[in-house]
Order: sequence, then C-alpha cells, then structure tokens
Amino acid sequence: MQSDNRSDPFLRFLLDELFPTRLPYNRRIFTNRSLRLDKAEWIGFDMDYTLALYHPEMERLSFQRTMEKLVAKGYPEELASFEYDASFAIRGLVIDLQRGNILKMDRYRHVSVVYHGFERVNDEERRRIYRKERMIFSKDRFYLLDTLFALPEAYIFAKLVSFLESQARGPLDAERYSQLFHDIRGSIDEAHRDNSIKETIVSDLERYVLRDDKLALTLHKFRSAGKKLFLMTNSYYPYSDRVMSFLLDDELPEYPSWRSYFDVIIVGACKPGFFTDGQPFRRVNRDGTLSDEAVTQLQRGEVYQNGNLQLFEAAIQAREDGILYVGDHIYGDILRSKKSTLWRTAMVVQEMERELSLTEDLAGDFRRLRDLERERVQSAEELDRYHVLQKSLARLLGGGEEEESGRELEPMLDEVRHRVNDLKGRQASLVAAARELEAKIDCAFNERWGKLFSQGVEHSQFGNQVEDYACIYTSRVSNFLHYSPIHFFRSPRDPLPHELELLGAG
Ligand code: IMP
Ligand code: MG
Repeated sequence: MQSDNRSDPFLRFLLDELFPTRLPYNRRIFTNRSLRLDKAEWIGFDMDYTLALYHPEMERLSFQRTMEKLVAKGYPEELASFEYDASFAIRGLVIDLQRGNILKMDRYRHVSVVYHGFERVNDEERRRIYRKERMIFSKDRFYLLDTLFALPEAYIFAKLVSFLESQARGPLDAERYSQLFHDIRGSIDEAHRDNSIKETIVSDLERYVLRDDKLALTLHKFRSAGKKLFLMTNSYYPYSDRVMSFLLDDELPEYPSWRSYFDVIIVGACKPGFFTDGQPFRRVNRDGTLSDEAVTQLQRGEVYQNGNLQLFEAAIQAREDGILYVGDHIYGDILRSKKSTLWRTAMVVQEMERELSLTEDLAGDFRRLRDLERERVQSAEELDRYHVLQKSLARLLGGGEEEESGRELEPMLDEVRHRVNDLKGRQASLVAAARELEAKIDCAFNERWGKLFSQGVEHSQFGNQVEDYACIYTSRVSNFLHYSPIHFFRSPRDPLPHELELLGAG
C-alpha cells in the first residue's frame, strides 16, 4: 500500500515553499512591479522599523521624551503627565501647520478627512477650506507623516491644539499653530539625536523591540542561495550594534555575531542624502570612534559610516538593478532610492499585519458593501432613465398635443412618477446602508481615519505612494522565508477601465 505523501514532512515543507498562497494573508508579499528574486545579487536592509520592528511602547517612549522637552522649553508642567494614545494616528496623514488641522488625503490629494484637535471638521467646512486648493506639499505649510517614528508627533499636535485652545478659550492664530508644530518637531528631533529615546530602549530592548525568531533563518536562506547582504541604516554604531545584537546574536551556530550575516555594514548612512550627496565613507572603530581617512573599499566584517551611492556601487561592483533594498521609510528608503537609482525596492509596512487580518475578518462586510454599491449604481442608472422618460412624457402632455393621445399618456406618466418615487426611496436606503456599513468597516481599522491604504473607493495618498515606489511590499522581513530565493513576484494584471468592461468585471 502506498503511504500518504501529504504526511511526509519534507514534502509538506516543499509544498509550503512552492505554494506561498497557502501562507496566511497577512504574511504574504504583494507585488506592484514584477521582480525576479534570482536577479537580486545584493539585498540590502534598513534597520529601524525594517529588520527591527518596534512595539507601540516605542511610540509611548518617544511621546514622553518629547513632552519632557516641551516642558523644558516652557510649555506647562502638566504636559508631562499626559497619556499617549497609540491608536490616534496612521501613516500618510498630513499636518496643516497654518490651520492646526490633521488631514487624510486620497491619491489625487483630495482632502477627505480633517481633524482639528480631536474634533472632526464637518464636510461643509472641510470643503470650504480645502476643496479649491490642489495640495502642494510646501514645507512651510504641510508636514507629511511618512514614517512610524512620526506618529507620536501627530498625537502631540492634536493634543496640544486641543489643550491650548481650551486654555485660550478659542482658536489660535496661524503663526501659533505653526510655532507649536515646530516646537514639537524640534523636541522629538532632539530626543532622537541626544539619545534620550535610545538610551531607554537599549536598557530594556525586550520591551521596545520585537524579536522575530524567523529573521535569522530568513537572512541565512538568502545567504545560502548565494545572495550578498548589506545593512544600511541611519542609526549610528553603538545603537545599531545593540539592536542588531539583540535580534541576531546567538540565533544560528553558523554566525558568530550579527555582523557575520552581512557583507557590507553601513551605519549613520544619512539617507536620503546617501542617494544624492557625496559624503565619503569612514570606518567605524570597535570603540565607536571614526577613522580619520576616507575609505573606498568596503570589507566584510568592518562597519562603515556615511558614504554615498556612487562609492557604494563602485565598491560592491554590482549591477544597479541587481540590488534590492528593503526599507520602511517611503521617502528616505523607497522613493529616494527609486528616483536616484535602478535599485529594486521592497517596503516593510508593519501595520499591514493587523490591516490584513481585519480585512479577512470583515470579508463578509466587504462583500456586502460591494453588492450594495453595485445595486446602488444599477438603481441610479435606472432612475436616470425614468427621469428622462418622465420629462419626455410631461413635455408631450404639456405641449398641447391632441387631447385623445394626451389622455392615453396620463396613466403612463402616473406609472412613471410612481416608479421614480420608488427608485428614489430605494436609492436613499441603499446609500444610507452603504454609508453605514462603510463607516463600520472604516471604524474597525481606525476610528478616525479608516484604512491605511485606501480612502473611500480611492487609494489613500499613502497607498498611492506605496504603489508608485515599492516594487513589492509586505508586513515584515521574515515573510521572505516562505518564498524561494528565485521566486518571481509577478505584478497582477492591472486593467484600465475600458479593459475591465471587456473582462466583465466593471
Ligand atoms: P533607519 O530606519 O534604520 O534608517 O534609522 C532611523 C533612525 O532615524 C533611527 O536612529 C531614529 O532614531 C532616527 N530618527 C527618527 N526620527 C528622527 C528625527 O525626527 N530626528 C532625528 N532622528 C530621527
Ligand atoms: Mg527605517
């Protein structure tokens, strides 16, 4: 008798390897632009929020340190006792420095949701303020939350707008909002630079950094497939050393230290400047000091700081499109590398893990919403046709046509009027039901801002940037473990509206 092959663990492993669709949805890698992993000779990794994912505790810490700095700058003492709300902000939001508002935009930069402090600005007011402006991201006016490091800034801004307005018993003037934002930005920047955040993190790494037990294996699998790996982080050596040690040291016997996983290690890379400026590389000595002379050769086992794209590519002698860079920062890691080089990009979007689980949990609601939308469109089109019919009949009747035919048309017009009224009622109830369901779904994602990647039926501004600049994207680096190192990430067919009609999906 033949044994049951499915119970063979090796076969099961192979099947898992070969059929990644069996992966949990929130661990899959998604493709915007086709990418053959076998063509990636070098794979580079950012550290913070890419290899090192952080617990929300990290945001709380950054909030506390920033509040302390604000108090030191003369803000009221009570700020230091405020509590952080990690559910307040999402990536991709924009702070309007002049009006003291926080905005969510769609892909066309249409402002869809506005909060002032913790109050939602009503639709009429939102349209009055933002409808006519095509949003230009001038630095004086708008600040984009494009990294997870920035989420506490949005919460602090909303909290202080609300706090200071209640103290002033009314709105502040534009300069005050802008000043407030710059004070917050300056304080959080200082807290990152003077190590007051990092000192606390390294004193209790377990509390702040998420240790992914599949990370070492993932890197090992790449190396076993002949890939060269590099680390390129903006964090400086002592901190990077502690965090990377926490993530990788003692994980696999083949690797005596975290450094052994990488062929090139660059700390303090100053991205995005790395891609556009011309800083030389310096070697970092084991005590953290820098070598005096600039270096052009990058050796395995050493650590380098600063540097620039040209020197890096000359040193590793790789084809530009043979480099895959994995990062989390839409601007510093993904957009800049995409615009300045032919590097391929993979974006880590940590929030996707939760968003995709929710999408699965709410699949029934999503289907119901789609059906409601379809029915609403159909009944709207039918209503339009009956309106035309009603108008034509009314014109015929009122146009002094022969009495006899007029009398014949009267009941028909009555019937059409009835139908119009029914359809109007149906429309209203479909619109209300769809709105209610959509609000319920959005609220499950984020009470104020809804989904990260979309806004209504459009991509959100953030979703659009991910689509434009990241070749592939996923929730964490170790998701690569489930894909073969020669995997071909195929971009999905992306039909245009006229093609959709032909495919019958319109
Ligand atoms: P990467 O993501 O590994 O390139 O590193 C990000 C680095 O930027 C970390 O060391 C953060 O502490 C640092 N960082 C994040 N936000 C700020 C800021 O506002 N000012 C200065 N450094 C920051
Ligand atoms: Mg990062």
